[in-house]
Amino acid sequence: MRTFDYTRADNVDAVLRVNPSPETKFVAGGTTLIDLMKLNVETPSRLVDINPLPLTNIEKTSDGALRIGAMVRNSDLAHDAQVQQQYAVLSQALLSGASPQLRNMATTGGNLLQRTRCYYFRDTAYPCNKRKPGSGCPAIGGFNRIHAILGGSEDCIATNPSDMAVAMMALEATVHIRGATGERSVPLIEFYFVPGSTPNRETVVGPGDLITYVTLPPLPNGARSYYLKRRDRSSYEFALASAAVVAVVQGGRMQHVRVAMGGVGTKPWRSKEAEQALEGRQASDANFRAAADAALRDAKPQRYNGFKVELAKRTLTRALQTLTQNA
Ligand code: SF4
Repeated sequence: MRTFDYTRADNVDAVLRVNPSPETKFVAGGTTLIDLMKLNVETPSRLVDINPLPLTNIEKTSDGALRIGAMVRNSDLAHDAQVQQQYAVLSQALLSGASPQLRNMATTGGNLLQRTRCYYFRDTAYPCNKRKPGSGCPAIGGFNRIHAILGGSEDCIATNPSDMAVAMMALEATVHIRGATGERSVPLIEFYFVPGSTPNRETVVGPGDLITYVTLPPLPNGARSYYLKRRDRSSYEFALASAAVVAVVQGGRMQHVRVAMGGVGTKPWRSKEAEQALEGRQASDANFRAAADAALRDAKPQRYNGFKVELAKRTLTRALQTLTQNA
């Protein structure tokens, strides 16, 4: 591990006074960054510890949204009564991720920024366009069982590993960021980039930017939500395919349908195709399967991950069946 300078910041203004540089990293729970520093994948020259920041509240806003501080730990968010009652999909997604110890440390802001689990990215013996642009992508043509089938490019097919972000995508979250140019609010659907020819650019967060909180808009009356995750083992494992679904079911028909998928895309994958296939339609197995087919229509499997296409379809179909049970 490379040596680095370490400082602590106890207020947001102090963080924003830090000289913005790709060499400076903010550390909160450290559940991604410290691992990657040990592997020499991340080699910052300066770490700013933001754990003292007072961004730990979960509160209702005057317009009925839920405002979640960036430093709220994943376990606190998962067990918050408002989240469990009104945004069950988020609690379920959080509890399906990592381990209790990691959830006690990992933060809301950090979870949004977690890096891919691509084995080649995490091993500096291999080239990787995400680590070093232009060096190559050994996953394409190599062993790519866990890689993306949606949103990939000729330069990168790495999946985004977050469960929380998939649920937040279906909940139409907004990320609030402070930086040198002031404060801005970015809908989560615009927060992540697909890799294209610049897989090193993953989100709209730049050097010196700090995520301060995330807001979830209120759901319509009667909305239900559900998260289903499929993986190689039942805990402490990343998704091979997951689905976050939100809908209101009235008279057997689905309205306000929101669908996002994990484990299959280069970013948390909102499927407007599936939503359009379901909106206003009867909640039926045939319509669920048609929506799943629509969601995966553009899938481009690699040599070792072709199974993900059918797995993702079945995951979404089963999630919709569970969501609409007894409606
Ligand atoms: Fe690197 Fe992306 Fe290729 Fe993995 S898939 S080796 S992260 S460029």
